[in-house]
Amino acid sequence: MQNINIEKIRHSLAHILAESVIDLYPEVEVAIGPVVENGFYYDIDFKNENISVEDLQKIETKMVEIIQKKRKFIKKRISQGEAKKIFSKNRYKLELIKEIEEKKLTIYRSEGGNFIDLCKGPHIADTDEIDVKSFKLTKLAGAYWRGSENNKMLTRIYGVAFETPDELKIYLENQEKLSGLDHKTIGQQMDLFFFDPTAPGMAYWTDKGLKIINQLIEYWRNTHEALGYKEYRTPLINKKELYVKSGHWDHYNQHMFIANTKEKEIYGLKPMNCPNAMIVYKHKIRSYKDLPLKISDTDTLHRLEKSGTLNGLLRVREFSQDDAHIFISCDNIESQYLELIGLVEKFYKLFDIDYSFRLGTRPDKFIGNKEDWKKSENILVKVLKKSGKNYDILVGDGAFYGPKIDILMNDNYGRS
Ligand SMILES: [Zn+2]
Ligand SMILES: [Zn+2]
Repeated sequence: MQNINIEKIRHSLAHILAESVIDLYPEVEVAIGPVVENGFYYDIDFKNENISVEDLQKIETKMVEIIQKKRKFIKKRISQGEAKKIFSKNRYKLELIKEIEEKKLTIYRSEGGNFIDLCKGPHIADTDEIDVKSFKLTKLAGAYWRGSENNKMLTRIYGVAFETPDELKIYLENQEKLSGLDHKTIGQQMDLFFFDPTAPGMAYWTDKGLKIINQLIEYWRNTHEALGYKEYRTPLINKKELYVKSGHWDHYNQHMFIANTKEKEIYGLKPMNCPNAMIVYKHKIRSYKDLPLKISDTDTLHRLEKSGTLNGLLRVREFSQDDAHIFISCDNIESQYLELIGLVEKFYKLFDIDYSFRLGTRPDKFIGNKEDWKKSENILVKVLKKSGKNYDILVGDGAFYGPKIDILMNDNYGRS
């Protein structure tokens, strides 16, 4: 085979999938079937038929049968009227036809088969171009017609296709490996946590999951206490005024859950601990003798992440941090940073996590004077050298109020 165009193959396979399903279940109405990453899918209204993953093998066999007939893909231009006649028994295609503005529509017909689909192409010329060992139907899912909850739930059949059988094999092996390592799968298998649609991005922890969390916090607490940290718990919701003062109201508002009371007060759910830590600091008169003052917490935080970006425990709307705010004088910077880096090593080593550091230096917009910035940056470079860990420097990546050190790590998916 020459000039393999995998996108064309995936697209053509979607049609063959639809044709196979119609062959096996004549009552169905097929809706749409686009190409997606690594493959394709088709949304199908199975009417009263119930199909399960076990049926995928049967459908796949049918597809192979069609492919091996070496059929040509025939393109035809027809009028709106003709199209409406052809698809008169398919409400989904009719809906699509009504929305097409051109007078002439393009349909695709499989040579020797009765299957006709509404499609602009492009397709492969002949099913002969498909290597039957390079594709596979993988899973079923429910999908609303046109993605709207008000419409009927259709059955989505997914398939993957590659240029060679080897590529398919590698892909499937990887998927298996990944699903075995996926924390969502493990969490479910071990009955540690779950999610409910009434609280997207906010985990329910089971008794078993909570045992792990409590032990982690216990370890965290002991380790920090030994280093002189004082643990605090601060309010989960705070008046707007606090966030106006901290700058979050102007710069972080779109990521915050906001609540209004009947007394016409506006509150925000705490998205980070910093503003409350500042209140802890200022509620007493502090002396230089109090420094370094190290306060720590694991309070619950809420951030309004977009629903589409939520992902298990990796991207959530409710979480807690191993957090601390350390008030120091300039001559404490080096010793405190070294202590911190020791803490990082202690915790990450516990979980066998490999990591490196990244220093972010003074950005274009900053507060304070340049000498203090330079001094702090130099100390941080010195600390990073002493750490013995790999690090790089990202010029201008510091926070507007000071340079920062990020900790970078890779997960099992190779994500940094
Ligand atoms: Zn097509
Ligand atoms: Zn903070």
